[in-house]
Amino acid sequence: MTVIMDGKLTAEKITAEIKTEVSALTVKPKLAVIKVGDNPASQIYVRNKQKKALELGINSVVLELPSNVSEENLLEQIYILNEDTDINAVLVQLPLTEHINKQRIIEAIEPIKDVDGFTSFNFGRLALGYQPYTFPCTPKGIIRLMDEYNINLEGKKAVVIGRSNIVGKPLSLLLQRQNATVIMAHSKTINLKEHTLSADIIVSAVGHPNLITADMVSEGAVIIDVGINRIDNKLIGDVDFNTVKEKVSFITPVPGGIGPMTIAMLMENTLELYKFQKSLGL
Ligand code: NDP
Repeated sequence: MTVIMDGKLTAEKITAEIKTEVSALTVKPKLAVIKVGDNPASQIYVRNKQKKALELGINSVVLELPSNVSEENLLEQIYILNEDTDINAVLVQLPLTEHINKQRIIEAIEPIKDVDGFTSFNFGRLALGYQPYTFPCTPKGIIRLMDEYNINLEGKKAVVIGRSNIVGKPLSLLLQRQNATVIMAHSKTINLKEHTLSADIIVSAVGHPNLITADMVSEGAVIIDVGINRIDNKLIGDVDFNTVKEKVSFITPVPGGIGPMTIAMLMENTLELYKFQKSLGL
């Protein structure tokens, strides 16, 4: 029988523990989110992050900057947050507007406040097999959800579709840490189906509805659907859920799968950064 992996419930369990821990703290952790422009999806993501932080007793502040903000001005805001001892975690909501050099902005975040784990310091440590201050939220949430369902990754063949810096690439590194054999697929991959058919675990992080169909998966595979696609005002993933679920052992739904896990990991990372900074007397 197929197990529908409940990311919402798992995330609620994790955040309930965070809430308890935060309630015992006299000084609360504080997350700063920078949002540039008025991308509608970003508005929703930022609002959800703020709402979750509030629910858990984590303080948060959102800096809303206009879409024509200069790169220098944006950098200045990050430097201020880096210096502010009340702020434990800094997040720049992506995507940024075209005229801004994303890499330069992310690199400006102090690694010890880099709640997304996107700076080259933290990402480099992840790649080298060392301990970063934080692991990127979506990949961390995927690993945590599979762990919750006792899915053993050792020796398993995992096909990760999508090689972005925020999902595919860091996830492939985390899967390797768990001793999975990882294949990275992307838009130039030839005959994706050949790879997915021999995979024990398939993660799709692309943003194409129905990219993964039942004929592409083997019986008993584990399917993690990271994709978010808005079709007719409804959210769907990359996987043709209804047909694929008949064949596989585990599958995540969209919504209610990786999305809530990502937010839970953001809250966990905020708390972890706070505790680490306190342990250093900062
Ligand atoms: P990007 O657009 O940065 O990356 C997409 C990746 O998919 C690229 O590596 C691209 O290949 C690859 N790709 C595109 N078309 C194909 C194809 N036909 N076959 C195989 N690979 C293909 O996206 P993100 O990583 O930022 O996000 C991916 C999806 O995950 C989106 O739908 C996004 O909304 C969602 N998402 C969900 C989150 C959650 O919390 N649930 C969090 C973050 C993202 P190439 O490199 O060659 O261009």
